Amino acid sequence: MTSALSPALRAIYDEATHRNAHEPVFHQALHEVLESISPVLSNHPEFVEAGIVERLIEPERQIMFRVPWHDDAGNVRVNRGFRVQFNSALGPYKGGLRFHPSVNLGIVKFLGFEQIFKNALTGQGIGGAKGGSDFDPHGKSDAEVMRFCQSFMSELYRHLGEHTDVPAGDMGVGAREIGFLFGQYRRLTNRHESGMFTGKGVQWGGAEVRTEATGYGTVFFAQEMLATRQDSVEGKRAIVSGSGNVAIYAIEKLQQLGAKPITASDSSGYIVDENGLDLELLKQLKEVERARISEYAERRPSARYVAGGSVWDVPGELAFPCATQNELTLSDARTLLNNGLTLVAEGANMPCTPDAVETFQAADVLFAPGKAANAGGVATSALEMSQNAARQRWDFTSSEDKLHEIMRGVHASAWEAAEFYGHPGDYVVGANAAGFKRVADAMLAQGV
Ligand code: GLU
Repeated sequence: MTSALSPALRAIYDEATHRNAHEPVFHQALHEVLESISPVLSNHPEFVEAGIVERLIEPERQIMFRVPWHDDAGNVRVNRGFRVQFNSALGPYKGGLRFHPSVNLGIVKFLGFEQIFKNALTGQGIGGAKGGSDFDPHGKSDAEVMRFCQSFMSELYRHLGEHTDVPAGDMGVGAREIGFLFGQYRRLTNRHESGMFTGKGVQWGGAEVRTEATGYGTVFFAQEMLATRQDSVEGKRAIVSGSGNVAIYAIEKLQQLGAKPITASDSSGYIVDENGLDLELLKQLKEVERARISEYAERRPSARYVAGGSVWDVPGELAFPCATQNELTLSDARTLLNNGLTLVAEGANMPCTPDAVETFQAADVLFAPGKAANAGGVATSALEMSQNAARQRWDFTSSEDKLHEIMRGVHASAWEAAEFYGHPGDYVVGANAAGFKRVADAMLAQGV
C-alpha cells in the first residue's frame, strides 16, 4: 500500500526527517510504518493523545563510540561503533550487530526501528535495538577480528546485560565474532552471563536452530502465504540473493520442501545453477573458506557466474531477497513479474525498494516484508534467552517445531491485522499494524 500520509502524520514525519537529517534509509523505514498505522490510530485515539508515535520514533538511547585496534602490521586503526537502543517497552533491547563498511548511524537506526515491530510480532518479550560498526571483517585475519571485537566490546559491555540489552549477529557478525565479543564481556564483567548475547556456540549456551532460523523461518512464512492460495513451494524455481546465513538456510529449507533454488549472490555478482544448488559446496565455500561466490562456478561445471549482474534477471516463481537493504529495485521487480513471479519473501531487512513493493502488490504477487518473513531469527534468539535463563538445552527437532509454530503465529497476526484494518492480504500493513499495536499498548500502560 502506498498512500499519502495524513496531515498529522506528515508533520511527524517532516519533523523526524529534519531531526534525523541525511539518514535516507531510516526515513524510508519510517515512512512505510507511518503509512501503515493510520487505521490503528483512527481506532485508538488514546495512542494519539499519549503521543505514542512521537515517542516511538525517537530512540530511547543512541550510543556511538570510537573503536581503536592494532592490525597485524602493528598500525593503529580506528573504526566507529554504534548501538541504538530503540524501544524497551516489551522487553530488554534485542537486535543484531552488523559489521560492514556501509554501517552508519542512519542504517543502524533504520534496522533498530524495524526491529521494534519485528520483535513485537513474534509475540515474545523483546524490545528493539541494533548496532554495529563500519569495520569490514573481509580480508582480516582471525587475530585482527579478535582485537577489533575486544576493543568494540570494551566500550559496549557497559550498556549490555541479559535484562538490559542482548545483541546477536547480523551481516559480518557470525559465530567467530560472537565468540570474541562474548569472551570479552565475560572477561570484563567476571560473569558468564549466557543470556546477554544470542547466536552463541551450541556448546556454550547457544540454541539449536539459531543458525538456520532466519532462512528456515522465511521459507515457513512463504509456505503460509502460499497456503492462503491453496499452493505450495514444491516444484517451484526459487531465486535467492545473498550467500550468508539467511540465504544458505533459506536454500536448505527450500530444497527440503521440494522447491528448486538455483541462485546465490554476493556484492560482486551471482551464480545460477540450473541443476539445483550444491548446498554442501556452498556451505564449504561460505562457512569454512570464506570465499567469494564466483568460486562456486569454478568448482561446479553446471553453474554459471555472472559478474556484476542482477540476480533478479533469472526467471523463477519465488523470490527470496536475502542480501541487504534496497537490493531489489523497480526495474528488477518489473523483470521478475515478466518472468512469472508469484511470491516475494524478504529474508533481508527492507531489501525491496518502496516502488518495487508497490509494483508487486499492484500485480497481486504475494509479498512479505522482512519484519514478518525474517522474524524467525530473532524469535529463536528469544528461545535461546529462555533456555539460558532455565539452564536448559532443547534439541534440534523441538526447536525447529517451535520456530515453525512462531512463524505460523507471525503470519496469522499479520494476516488478521491486515483484514481487521481494511487491507486484506496486505502483509506490509498487517505486520506494521500488528507490531505497532502491541508496542503502543505496552507504552500506553507504562506511562510517559
Ligand atoms: N539480526 C537479526 C535480525 O535482523 C537477528 C537479531 C537477533 O537475533 O537479535 O533480526
